[in-house]
Amino acid sequence: MTKYITRFAPSPTGNLHIGSARTALLNYIITKKFPSSKYYLRIEDTDKLRSKKEFTQNILDGLSWLGIKWENDIQIQSKRIERHQEVAKKLLEKKYAYKCNCTEEKLNDKREIIKKNKNISKKICIDCKNNNDVQNLSDGFVVRLKLPEDGELLINDKIQGEIVVKNKELDDFILLRKDQTPTYMLSVVVDDNDLGVNFIIRGDDHLNNAFRQFYIYKYLNWKIPEYAHIPLIHGEDGSKLSKRHGAVDVLEFKRNGYLKEAIINNLILLGWSPNNNEIIGIKEIIKSFEINKLSKSSSIFSYNKLNFFNNYYLRKENGFKEFEDYCKNHEKLKNLIETNKDKMELIFETYKKNLNNFSELLDIVDVYFDVNYKINSNESLNKEFKDIAYDFITKLNNTSNWTRDEVQKTIEDFLNIKKLKFPVLGKPLRYLLINSYNGPSISDIFVILGKKDSIDRLNQYIEKINYGRLRR
Ligand code: GLU
Repeated sequence: MTKYITRFAPSPTGNLHIGSARTALLNYIITKKFPSSKYYLRIEDTDKLRSKKEFTQNILDGLSWLGIKWENDIQIQSKRIERHQEVAKKLLEKKYAYKCNCTEEKLNDKREIIKKNKNISKKICIDCKNNNDVQNLSDGFVVRLKLPEDGELLINDKIQGEIVVKNKELDDFILLRKDQTPTYMLSVVVDDNDLGVNFIIRGDDHLNNAFRQFYIYKYLNWKIPEYAHIPLIHGEDGSKLSKRHGAVDVLEFKRNGYLKEAIINNLILLGWSPNNNEIIGIKEIIKSFEINKLSKSSSIFSYNKLNFFNNYYLRKENGFKEFEDYCKNHEKLKNLIETNKDKMELIFETYKKNLNNFSELLDIVDVYFDVNYKINSNESLNKEFKDIAYDFITKLNNTSNWTRDEVQKTIEDFLNIKKLKFPVLGKPLRYLLINSYNGPSISDIFVILGKKDSIDRLNQYIEKINYGRLRR
């Protein structure tokens, strides 16, 4: 039985990007697909300057929110530096690695030569490996892996297919820096090996690294993992998805009122399509997803598509419950829902069919909760309305049962008796009630506001046109 050991290995140098979340998700799906597989989370924090605790926290929170679970212990790469150094030492002893003390100047000259001569070997240090004095140094050197000059290397990637790279294209890359700290290239292989990782799913920006890392595995006789290098996601203009396109940080989507089901649904369709339905939940994804069916060309992340999915999921039965949870993290909404949950539910149910995300309700709720509501006095309403307003409002005030149907019936009866078309009444009423000509149906607005508030608002108008004030 296939048993995969996978990992997600983010560097905590920024918040959890939606593209990284996709990598995390695919690893998760694969381990869930094959029972008794394992999924590790490793924080690759060896870049001391750029790694920050708050980014690690953001990554953990983002993954947890998406429902991605990993094996209990989180691996922290910086805690394993001694082990990485021990492996580098072993490679040195076996002469698979060598010390190099080339000056920056010398290396830069070589880089220039390599740049100008496309066909020559990319090995940047030539002399050090054969120089005994350098090999006997006790400090002031970097450690480089010794890669072959001739021949080529084939990697069979589950997404990219068979890829061949000539060994002369690969540099003798650095394993330990001058201060003897390990590089990513070394740490990642040691950590993956020690965890028993046998399947690496990561962005295709690491495809080149797979060829370099291969030689560490080979020299140490370690089992080489399977690979799936997934194409990065792009924005609609074709460039790499970034802040320029919109939100990219997973928790920002959460703050903006997106549901994790929508995020997951949208992410999984990038480069893969299920057989029948575009709407697909995590259980079904785990059942039907196959990594080798993932397209190798980059996919476009569409915010419109995400909105479509989010609207679908927030309209489901538990939509209001989700909205309630969302409100808990927004001070203003939290206060309002504590003040009048029924009203919030009415607003949510009324607006949800056109809602892209919960944050769109942040502004919408204001007018319904405004205790100092004033009709915008600059608006002059049509004369026809002015003539019937008092009668209509009087009739409305007599409606005993303030339900949507009753209010609707009052409006219809009134229009029939007066032989009027709906817009004569509807348009100005909407304006008087919420200071806008756009919005939900009049009867919905009446129900959200409740009888008292509705009549109070309309009374402002009646007073203004000198009809006195109706008593409720
Ligand atoms: N830490 C690397 C990154 O965030 C990932 C390394 C890997 O997956 O091999 O890009």
